[in-house]
Amino acid sequence: MESILPKQIRTLITEFAKIPGIGPKSAERIVFFLLKTNQSDLDTFGSSLQSLKQNIKRCTNCFNITDNDICVICEDTNRSAAQICVVEEALDIVAIEKTRQFDGRYHVLGGVISPLDGIGPEELTIHQLDKRVRNEQPQLRELILATNPSLEGEATNMYITKKLGATGIEMTRIARGLPVGGEVEYADEMTLTRALEHRVKAG
Ligand SMILES: [Zn+2]
Repeated sequence: MESILPKQIRTLITEFAKIPGIGPKSAERIVFFLLKTNQSDLDTFGSSLQSLKQNIKRCTNCFNITDNDICVICEDTNRSAAQICVVEEALDIVAIEKTRQFDGRYHVLGGVISPLDGIGPEELTIHQLDKRVRNEQPQLRELILATNPSLEGEATNMYITKKLGATGIEMTRIARGLPVGGEVEYADEMTLTRALEHRVKAG
């Protein structure tokens, strides 16, 4: 079916189909939807896409995504300095913020330790987390480990617990309200709220 389509359309379908959660069928639907969209909306879409990487960077403090040096969460003086919630990706922050149950700050690891994928602790922001914990104590009292309930997530928690043990900081991990193999990003707000409330001592 695709072969009867102009090359530009086929290229766009191929590109959309690369996005997680979007298969070839959805990609076709998106492109045909865009064909019917007015030009000014398309221009906004196109220019945001084009400048995405240029304008978005990592917060120098917590590695959340931001268009400034410091992200809106780190900048917000109303948020508690007592807790840091450690997550794998910036998208996990979006999910946790939706619960409105957490008013501390975050630290984005940038992934999990996964030797098979060649990702060791040095590829993550664990060193920076260690530094942050040392700098922010004694106001900072607790690290909440909110990695995904996978083998890699657990291994990463264990590594952090061991590495930062010397700082004396209290470390907890979110409760297993999350199904095994489930991900923070996809958890519904109730599940995530319960997981935060019933967190347990890590290590
Ligand atoms: Zn930040």
